[in-house]
Amino acid sequence: MVERERGIMPHQHWCEFAGHYWECSGTAVRLFQAEPTICICFDHGVPMEQGDHSSCGLELLSCPEHRADQMRAMGYEPGYVIPSSPEGDERSLMFTDADGKPTVGFCLWCGADFYSFEDHEAHVADDMAACAVFQKMKDEPGEPPVLRQMFEEAGLGDPEGNKNDE
Ligand SMILES: [Zn+2]
Ligand SMILES: [Zn+2]
Ligand SMILES: [Zn+2]
Ligand SMILES: [Zn+2]
Repeated sequence: MVERERGIMPHQHWCEFAGHYWECSGTAVRLFQAEPTICICFDHGVPMEQGDHSSCGLELLSCPEHRADQMRAMGYEPGYVIPSSPEGDERSLMFTDADGKPTVGFCLWCGADFYSFEDHEAHVADDMAACAVFQKMKDEPGEPPVLRQMFEEAGLGDPEGNKNDE
């Protein structure tokens, strides 16, 4: 029997810690969070409260009773919250341009940012005809300048390549 209050469909989660289903009314406290957040249907990309998601994928989430146990099992205090950086957590996971806009990558020759894979395709088409730097350098042997700069910034310069001919 499913109890329906105000038209809200409860949905289920799978408590991975203890291995049981549990019923959730729309928000839940996730691991490393202090406050409950709205449950989102990953299949539809909308809050679980909207519509019927009874046949959608379940989110693995330890239930309120086992959440503290799972945190301890992972080596944390039950109340531990990951400090959120003002930059936003996703920032560090993807490439961004100088303005902080997300990109899918960049050209290792001229440093151009690609905002989509189509951008990338267009840039590398026809032997990278769109890349002025590559066209200028392709007759001289050498590494892509952006790649070389990245190695230098990371301190990964080739130790055997230190001989300066000049
Ligand atoms: Zn939920
Ligand atoms: Zn759904
Ligand atoms: Zn549980
Ligand atoms: Zn380029």
